[in-house]
Amino acid sequence: MYIPYGKQSIDEGDIQAVVEVLKSDYLTTGPRIAEFEQKMADYTGAQYAVAVSSGTAALHIACLAAGIGVGDEVITTPLTFAASANCVLYCGGRPVFADIDPQTYNIDPVEIETHITPKTKAILPVHYTGRPCDMEAIGKIAEEQELMVIEDGAHALGAQYRGRRIGSLSHMTCFSFHPVKPVTTGEGGVVTTSSRELYERLLLFRSHGITREVDLLREQEGAWYYEQLELGYNYRITDIACALGISQMKKLEGFLQRRKGLAERYNEAFATVEGIQTPEELEDAESGWHLYMIQVPEERRERMFEQLREAGIGVNVHYIPVYRHPYYQSCGYAGCFCPNAEGFYERALTLPLYPDLTEEQQDYVIEKVTEYIK
Ligand SMILES: *Cc1c(COP(=O)(O)O)cnc(C)c1O
Repeated sequence: MYIPYGKQSIDEGDIQAVVEVLKSDYLTTGPRIAEFEQKMADYTGAQYAVAVSSGTAALHIACLAAGIGVGDEVITTPLTFAASANCVLYCGGRPVFADIDPQTYNIDPVEIETHITPKTKAILPVHYTGRPCDMEAIGKIAEEQELMVIEDGAHALGAQYRGRRIGSLSHMTCFSFHPVKPVTTGEGGVVTTSSRELYERLLLFRSHGITREVDLLREQEGAWYYEQLELGYNYRITDIACALGISQMKKLEGFLQRRKGLAERYNEAFATVEGIQTPEELEDAESGWHLYMIQVPEERRERMFEQLREAGIGVNVHYIPVYRHPYYQSCGYAGCFCPNAEGFYERALTLPLYPDLTEEQQDYVIEKVTEYIK
């Protein structure tokens, strides 16, 4: 028996939804895509949603739609998956890493301010583990400095900030539907926005920069006519994937409840265990509990990781600070060091958390963690 750190939940309804698309006329660019996008817009409270082939593609077209280009700086957190920063490099821009707040593990608004330069174009906060960032403070900085805000909500579908769901709090929010994420489409992603202008640019960048929208065309040569207005990509998602996504969305509330319940069970179990630091309670916000992470003493972490893996528990470490990767080191980040992100990284341990994790399995994880911390 191996218990992974995260995993999809697929039921008969999901399978049937996919099979129906396979028997239909459209495998891609069909009706399921618009239906899924409408669902994502309704759920997050945004006006528009553009579904794409991955969360990374979502981040890339969001940066393109925001106009990020050569020499532009985008402030983000080092404690994230590389894609949150890579999307800026794809556009010729430069990610600038602002340290985290050690209490929330999220980007610290005070740190954001100290990294603003005349080249800063956007802030790209990541709702790490599903815990919403301080969006009020970030929004205020962005407004004062006239910056775009692009949220990486890959962990945070269903998370709430002051009673509002993540996805409608800034210019654009990107979500991922990789199998470990809150809901899955296999591979997939979406950008939500309430700006008509950004929405139209996102649509262009998703599909080669090509449009048939009469209002956008420079010329009109006939009903066959279309124009390429930007250098876009093929980042389209399939109807097969969207059918799975629509079916998964029906179960999201249940998934979130289950994740929360399991996280609370971990918190209770570890409350009195010496050496384990559990995630702090949030004020004004509701985590999506994408990841459950504890912090253990630095000198014990590697040994515990190995022991837990040997016991069949798929513990993990999220994340290696992005600037530490050899690629980043080789392109000018050798001097970069964020002490809070480093400290967290040295102590962090991700424990299994997903809707289908049974209480029996969780008890086994709790037992082993408690045993090995001693
Ligand atoms: C998963 C993830 C992504 C990338 O999403 P993909 O769908 O795998 O491309 C980006 N940012 C964060 C924080 C993620 O966890």
